[in-house]
Amino acid sequence: MIGTFEQVYLSVIIDPTEAEPGVTMHQELHPSALFSFAGNLIPFPDHNQSPRNVYQCQMGKQTMGIPVHAWHARCDNKMYRLQFPQKPLLKPEAYDIYKMDDYPLGTNACVAVISYTGYDMEDAMTINKSSYERGFGHGTVIKVEVVDLMEGIRFATKENRKTFARDNNDITIREFIGEDGLPYQGKLYKKDDPIYSYREEENKEYKIKKFKYVESAICGYIRIVESGADLGKTMIESMAGKAAATHGEYYDASPFVFNEKNTAINHFGELLQKAGYNYYGEEVLYSGITGEEMKVQIFFGIVYYQRLRHMIADKFQVRGTGPVDPATLQPVKGRKKGGGIRFGEMERDSLIAHGVAFCLQDRLLISSDLDSCKVCGNCGSILTVTRNFRSEDSFNTFRETCKSCPKKDQKIYHMQVPRVFCYLAAELAAMNIRVITEVKPPI
Ligand SMILES: [Zn+2]
Repeated sequence: MIGTFEQVYLSVIIDPTEAEPGVTMHQELHPSALFSFAGNLIPFPDHNQSPRNVYQCQMGKQTMGIPVHAWHARCDNKMYRLQFPQKPLLKPEAYDIYKMDDYPLGTNACVAVISYTGYDMEDAMTINKSSYERGFGHGTVIKVEVVDLMEGIRFATKENRKTFARDNNDITIREFIGEDGLPYQGKLYKKDDPIYSYREEENKEYKIKKFKYVESAICGYIRIVESGADLGKTMIESMAGKAAATHGEYYDASPFVFNEKNTAINHFGELLQKAGYNYYGEEVLYSGITGEEMKVQIFFGIVYYQRLRHMIADKFQVRGTGPVDPATLQPVKGRKKGGGIRFGEMERDSLIAHGVAFCLQDRLLISSDLDSCKVCGNCGSILTVTRNFRSEDSFNTFRETCKSCPKKDQKIYHMQVPRVFCYLAAELAAMNIRVITEVKPPI
């Protein structure tokens, strides 16, 4: 094991031909050791812009695929499973070494590169309806629900133990819970359906627990445990994938196979031409809406697509009004709490740059923590003005005065401020710092 600080002082070679006697100290076990596990699975990484490779190294870990084979024995909180995985037509050398065919994580998709309806803008794409209906990208989310009947019990005795059981006098739950008190395997459960029940010996009562998720789910395995996309050089992949499909073979997508003299485009172009296709992988397509022939040649090929496990339903965030922070009266943050998305300094700067002062005032004051306060015209304090009621019976007649100024000829102004400003003044006062506000009556 070589430490990271040690590494800089070592002479490590990749290929034996690079060896210098007396200088070379180590050699990589395999040239591919230059890349990480995730990096080794990228097809033609040497043809990509480097951020794309870094990005793919992150994404490869977030795809739906076949992560394990012991589905029934696992108790991971959440697992994702791709329903119809395929092996890629283009495999880097490492793909077989890592036995990735046992853990496939994508589908070969026929992709046309064209801007068509506008629904394909940015990184979006329009997908073929029947391909979706035949299961393209379909996946399953597997959640494990752990029920601990020993919770709160130190030693189980005949008197205090809890056991899975069903109250046979209650006919309504028979549809959902079996005789053993457990859910039926393979049954679809909806929100608030009874899912399991147990008997408490202590009070001889049956407790029924309900299914608490909004999205319905099918009950899978039950185990009882006793106590205890984007386009970089996807272009080459697309062409090569198409060539592989037409010739019925799997092609190598390892890095550093092609170079300036022997380019990938030429290699796969020739293969495509041999199969009767256009050299650059372009094809004539017809509009699916009108049936008309499109007037441009469209780049069309096969790309290995990965379905990521990020779902819009888990991410979207929207808020009109909602919870506010009790101290500052500003909207709270966080999707879970029904909060807003921060309008930060950079956003503020853009509005300033656009010169939209009223919009800025609306975002940062009116729609946020608008509050009013009283300012003493004499000393400029916003903390010392208090209300003095004329009599104890009437709260309608009062005079506002500044506690720290002489009673005579006081001028009190009402001012609109962000609530945090009052908060700031109070916090500073606690540290012996006085905030003076200069107020002029409006002209
Ligand atoms: Zn004052």
